[in-house]
Amino acid sequence: MIKSLIPEQTLRRIPLYHQILSELEQKGEKYVSSACLANFFRIEDTQVRKDVSLINYKGKPKSGYSVSGLKKAIGDFLGINYENSAIIIGAGKLGCALTKYPGLAEYGLKIVGIFDNNPAKIGSIMCSSSILPLESMDRVVHTFNIGIAIITVPKIAAQETCDLAVSQGIKGIWNFAPVRLQVPPEVIVKNENLAVSLAILSHYLKRRQLS
Ligand code: ATP
Repeated sequence: MIKSLIPEQTLRRIPLYHQILSELEQKGEKYVSSACLANFFRIEDTQVRKDVSLINYKGKPKSGYSVSGLKKAIGDFLGINYENSAIIIGAGKLGCALTKYPGLAEYGLKIVGIFDNNPAKIGSIMCSSSILPLESMDRVVHTFNIGIAIITVPKIAAQETCDLAVSQGIKGIWNFAPVRLQVPPEVIVKNENLAVSLAILSHYLKRRQLS
């Protein structure tokens, strides 16, 4: 059983543990100590042990955690050991960049279709997938049991495309448009606001320059 209330800082570290463990696995490492993992984050190793216990994985006291075992436990916790199928709505530059990004597949996300409403783009090939009209979303979502829609349309079109995806039964929205989407309670939205992240980065850079 996974404990229910996981602190946000731990939740933020968990995908990074997964990344570190993948790298260690590629290097042929079999075990990793909590001190070694703590070093990556510059945190105490007691915190690493706490994080790992929150996902209910037990390490061997002497040899540390099994790299593959802990990676699998984290993958199960994040749901990335099971393939999630997603569609992208908005075949612009960002949508195209995401279809090319191999990291999504590494995290168990398979892009099944890319949709757009621009007749000039529909039917053309983008990163080995053909761009589909919005009218075929229904068929694709039901045939491939799609759980996630990635929204990469401009701000003004985000709510209507989100509504369309939700009306097809999509339960997870990964939103790249800088707008707060309204969704029913059973739908989860994760916002990726590039403008906000950039503003925060610029602010910190400016503060550093001033001090
Ligand atoms: P490009 O200049 O090639 O269109 P872009 O990244 O600058 O790329 P954006 O204006 O950000 O384009 O739009 C992203 C994509 O979203 C475009 O392909 C556009 O046709 C599409 N789009 C806009 N409105 C909708 C909508 N209501 N439904 C589906 N797709 C839409």
